[in-house]
This record gives sequence, structure tokens and C-alpha cells, in this order.
Amino acid sequence: MNCAEFSRYYTDFRDGNDPDLAARMRVHVEGCRRCGTHHRALLIGVEALQYGEIEPSEGMHHSLSARFKTRPIR
Ligand SMILES: [Zn+2]
Repeated sequence: MNCAEFSRYYTDFRDGNDPDLAARMRVHVEGCRRCGTHHRALLIGVEALQYGEIEPSEGMHHSLSARFKTRPIR
């Protein structure tokens, strides 16, 4: 797996429905500084949102809603 593939499959990895993909992603993230940094930063952000450490702004809600309406679901 390379960085482009890691980025392409990241959402599927986060969904956690494919153990084989998860294993390949973990091998890459452990050996790649760039993707490891991205992954750790995202985990920190997700945890902060989950535990109420940060509150998304009203503008973020509008932006996300607009994006979900314009982008096809894969
Ligand atoms: Zn990488």
C-alpha cells in the first residue's frame, strides 16, 4: 500500500468493516510518517468532538450539510 491508496481507502478503514483492509492500513500507517501524522491528528479531532472538548461552529454545520447534498455517497 502506498500513501495515495491509504488516503483513498481511509474512510473505509475508519468504518471498520474490512479486517483485511484494516490490517494493510495499519502496516502502512505504522511505517509512514506522513500518513501516521494525518491519522493521529484525525483521531485527536474525532475524540475531541466525541467527548465535547470542542463544539463545531454553526458555519461548519452548514458547510457539511451542503457537502453531503452535493457529493454522491460511495
Ligand atoms: Zn503514507
